[in-house]
Amino acid sequence: MNKNELTFIGCDCEYQDAEFVLFGAPFDGTASFRPGARFAPQAMRLNSRDGLETYSPYQDKDLADIRVCDIGDLQFAFGNPAAVLDIITQTTKTIVADGKIPVMIGGEHLVSLGAIRALAEKYSDLHIIHLDAHADLRNEYLGEKLSHATVMRRIWDIVGDGKIFQYGIRSGEKAELVWGKSHIYTHMFDCNDIETALKKTAGKPIYLSIDLDVLDPSVFSGTGTPEAGGIQFSDLIITLLKMSNSVIVGADINELCPHYDRSGVSTLVACKVLRELLLAFFP
Ligand code: MN
Ligand code: MN
Repeated sequence: MNKNELTFIGCDCEYQDAEFVLFGAPFDGTASFRPGARFAPQAMRLNSRDGLETYSPYQDKDLADIRVCDIGDLQFAFGNPAAVLDIITQTTKTIVADGKIPVMIGGEHLVSLGAIRALAEKYSDLHIIHLDAHADLRNEYLGEKLSHATVMRRIWDIVGDGKIFQYGIRSGEKAELVWGKSHIYTHMFDCNDIETALKKTAGKPIYLSIDLDVLDPSVFSGTGTPEAGGIQFSDLIITLLKMSNSVIVGADINELCPHYDRSGVSTLVACKVLRELLLAFFP
């Protein structure tokens, strides 16, 4: 008899045997426009069971053949972003200390900061590849330093100049984009130039953060801050496949808000992105 525990499809390996550890970070406390990303991890688990195959025709690989343990969702006290980040950092530290690769399902984008704090402690040369519609480089948002609109700036505080490569960006304040020019690498509008990041990060430890609103709203409308003019699903898959030889030490996907897409398609898109991500980075 199967255990009556919901995991993402194909991710039911025992913890001690797992190479990847998947966990949910259901937090959306700083969402600037529309909240709801806290519902993403559970919606993805449920929909992956009914609407997604474990086999990927893109990669001729199967989730059933790789070792991923879905440990469920972290428990947060809402309303305290700093405490939430601490819990994510501690969890990530444990996973990394056990010799496994953390993969997180947000939640809003701020959750990435918690995981990167832990990984930057282990890897002094950590590089970040960031796919997003938004630059997320503000120093503060409405007076707050911790926000999904400031997350890449807080990550820069940790990793410093020349370590962050962002793609698909099509929204931000002029000031944050100007600041970015002298501190990070930004490729506007699409992911076509991902080779630049791959060349500069070759052999280096990489954290991949995918804010799913990098996708066009016609593909992925279920998100808090949709931005017209995004990439297509096939562009994202091609980008992931190009990264398959990179040294990925951690990853996340974030900003799915299932309830804004009544068709449910966005949740299934997120599920498929996660499957391809896991399969792309498994050796
Ligand atoms: Mn973002
Ligand atoms: Mn975004």
